[in-house]
Amino acid sequence: MNLSFSILFASSSLVLASSCAPKTTLKSGTLDGSSTESTGDTSAELLYPLGGWVDTCEEAGGGIGAFGSPRAGGSRKHAGCDLYSTVGRPIYAVEDGTVLETYLFYCDTDALVVKGKHTGRVIRYGEIRSGSPEKHGVSPGDTVKKGQVIAEIGKLSCYSQAMLHFELYSGSASGGLTVPDNPPYQRRSDLINPTKDLKQWRADRFHK
Ligand SMILES: [Zn+2]
Repeated sequence: MNLSFSILFASSSLVLASSCAPKTTLKSGTLDGSSTESTGDTSAELLYPLGGWVDTCEEAGGGIGAFGSPRAGGSRKHAGCDLYSTVGRPIYAVEDGTVLETYLFYCDTDALVVKGKHTGRVIRYGEIRSGSPEKHGVSPGDTVKKGQVIAEIGKLSCYSQAMLHFELYSGSASGGLTVPDNPPYQRRSDLINPTKDLKQWRADRFHK
């Protein structure tokens, strides 16, 4: 993403603001990815969002897909983890939840935002194929089940590599997810580094 899309994010966030209630004491990660303390949730409640083994941010060694890697010439930091894949691959719900919103996200791809039932977390599945939630019968207000196909990897019009851009929020804040005046991530204050969780969910799913 780059700064020129902040307006797009800001406008879509306004819609989310009304439907995203503050909630939960859960906090299983921090922005520096340092902690996963006792939360009451278990990995069994959560699932890796892709069906195949994909290098996640931590293996990128600070590469461009990693959480916190520089964007927009260093003026902000990457707020998610990019899971590189191929266009059209299914994306699975990481936990049971309620769909808050779908909207145009970045370079002709969409985003899907889900509020987790068990954890209260908010998950933004970004850079998904335009219209793919609807194709799989997923619309705002719907409930989704862990493991359900909820979208597909999208084709970016501005970049050749396809990916799932995965963002995670603890749910302790409310309002829109994209907050242009909140550096360095330009995201809501409850943004979590999802890297450690993704790695654990992947290990649970693929047992390696
Ligand atoms: Zn990304």
